[in-house]
Amino acid sequence: MNVRNHRRLKGGPLVIASHNPGKVREIADLLQPFGAEVMSAADLNLAEPIETGATFAENAELKARAAAEASGVPALADDSGLVVAALAGQPGIHSARWAGPDKDFRAAMQKVEDELQGQDDRRAHFVCALALCWPDGHMEAFEGAVHGTLVWPPRGTGGFGYDPVFVADGHDVTFGEMAAAEKHRISHRARAFRKLVDACFR
Ligand code: IMP
Repeated sequence: MNVRNHRRLKGGPLVIASHNPGKVREIADLLQPFGAEVMSAADLNLAEPIETGATFAENAELKARAAAEASGVPALADDSGLVVAALAGQPGIHSARWAGPDKDFRAAMQKVEDELQGQDDRRAHFVCALALCWPDGHMEAFEGAVHGTLVWPPRGTGGFGYDPVFVADGHDVTFGEMAAAEKHRISHRARAFRKLVDACFR
């Protein structure tokens, strides 16, 4: 059993180290029951660090650390993406980048499909890494994953990103066809947040 003591955050200000309003809103909703006073990196005019990490965890850490240092209050960052087994883990930390400047995920899904031509192995998983950093340098980090298979053609209009081509293990519908509440129960993000909340917010 894991008996490590996690540092807890009981109320008080918390910066969400993201300039994406949708992501900030979603995280604020998830943490609202725990009394955190949430603000975003954009609200505070914090610079967006360049994501130079080699892993999801490294990128989450560098975003959270930069925001905690610049603001002087604890900061939470997430980094996520799709890891395709037969593509040596790509698009991985470059999942958003594969959609190009126009954020065209139809094109990103097509690129994954093109690269998979001739491959029998269609396994993939989504990963979400969370980092919570304090201004004194302390960090708590958590990761969640959901494993599944890639299908073609894309199905469903729900969710975002690569959802229409991803079927989670034990399910028949894609994340794009799934009710939002069901996706939010089983997703990589839900799993990572459950770990964070259990460790630092209860
Ligand atoms: P981030 O906002 O830099 O962490 O980029 C995450 C990228 O990973 C998104 O732009 C999507 O392409 C992909 N991604 C992460 N989570 C999901 C998900 O739940 N469904 C579909 N795509 C996702």
